[in-house]
Amino acid sequence: MKDRTHTADAEPGETVTVAGWVHEIRDLGGIAFLILRDATGKIQVKFEKEEMDDDLVETGLGVHRESVITVSGDVEEEPRAPTGVEIVPESVDVVAEAAPDLPLDPSGKVDAELSTRLDNRTLDLRKEEVKAVFEIRAEVLRAVREYFRSVGSTEINTPKIVATGTEGGTELFPITYFGREAFMNQSPQLFKQLMVGSGLERVFEIGPIFRAEEHNTPRHLNEATMIDFESAFVDHEEAMDVCEGTLKAAYEAVAENCAEQLEILGYEDFEVPVGDFPRLTYEEAIERINATGALDEQLVWGDDLSTEAEKALGEDVGGHYFITDWPSEIKPFYIQDYDEDPQLSKGFDLMHPRMELVSGGQREHRYEKLVAGFEQQGLDPDQFEYYTKMFKYGMPPHAGWAYGVERLVMTMLDLPNIREAVLFPRDRQRLSP
Ligand code: ATP
Ligand code: MG
Repeated sequence: MKDRTHTADAEPGETVTVAGWVHEIRDLGGIAFLILRDATGKIQVKFEKEEMDDDLVETGLGVHRESVITVSGDVEEEPRAPTGVEIVPESVDVVAEAAPDLPLDPSGKVDAELSTRLDNRTLDLRKEEVKAVFEIRAEVLRAVREYFRSVGSTEINTPKIVATGTEGGTELFPITYFGREAFMNQSPQLFKQLMVGSGLERVFEIGPIFRAEEHNTPRHLNEATMIDFESAFVDHEEAMDVCEGTLKAAYEAVAENCAEQLEILGYEDFEVPVGDFPRLTYEEAIERINATGALDEQLVWGDDLSTEAEKALGEDVGGHYFITDWPSEIKPFYIQDYDEDPQLSKGFDLMHPRMELVSGGQREHRYEKLVAGFEQQGLDPDQFEYYTKMFKYGMPPHAGWAYGVERLVMTMLDLPNIREAVLFPRDRQRLSP
């Protein structure tokens, strides 16, 4: 629509055509108001029944809520209108009529269950507080991309259909690939590592990952969006610096560019994390967890951190923090161990007080050690030959990490369920829409 004006741009004194959805109709007798909503906001349209053409009044007030209409008319100042202006209509056109019985109420007056909302995501995203989450998500991704570019990282896209898994066999989704077994990729891990040995050196990818998680939880999806980073000639400490920088850049961008969305979501003072994130070793972490007394059973060296353990430590630390120097045994084969203490790995996690956000580490780039690591973890190195063989031809030392976008948005906005941060979530029950 060439001559369309967004509601937010309608200025008193102008004659405009606005287009959008019928948010609400309030009939006060001699006078009635239609509230029209578009992506930029809402505007009041005033119908003075006695003074206006009957057809016009009938069309404007007879249309069902959530129908798409266009309204042409003069914009006038009106201090009592929600936005301080209103339109006195010359014409109203119904472009797409909505059925009278809506599966959920986009005006938000009637609450809907999450499953109803997800089944009707189009209508759900007409609510400003739902839309705000996805506008913030988009800003997070924009800021992350910009940050990566500022540190000389090249965006890549790698295959999502693969021959082998990388993150554990039970979470794989098998598919049939021209009569052969294949899988949906759980992570771009191996591909991004192959690229640090290429001429690109420093890369990032933002793309889907697929994991057949065993349980439905509020923080797992079966299809998630991962932000991956990998760089040649850095160690795990430098990789953590970039990780921290990315997170802060995302928060700063949201604080700077999403004031309106934050207000809609009720954040009066959105806090951008400041200062260096504490870096606790795994050993310090389990000591602190045990000291809180929150767990029934004390953790011993070698235990993975349960959800309860993460929560206890998160409360104790009170902000973002890293856990470094994990036991080699609970980190994947591609993470490098300390030469002087092979029980310890250079893997790290970035934690939000509520949950894990990122896993990363320095990678094993030495061919012999890499292949030995496969065998130790019970994986067949032959299956990964496409990957390991490149380590014979000059693979630099490198490190990297991966975030879940949904967890980043979920923790940033304090959303109770990860499904709130993805348009069309995939969980054990949900396969459509
Ligand atoms: P968790 O232990 O919480 O299940 P993970 O250690 O298996 O996560 P990683 O393989 O380390 O996950 O993946 C890196 C990041 O990707 C995680 O820190 C998380 O932010 C995100 N992520 C992983 N799996 C999922 C999932 N199923 N749903 C949403 N995000 C995920
Ligand atoms: Mg992890």
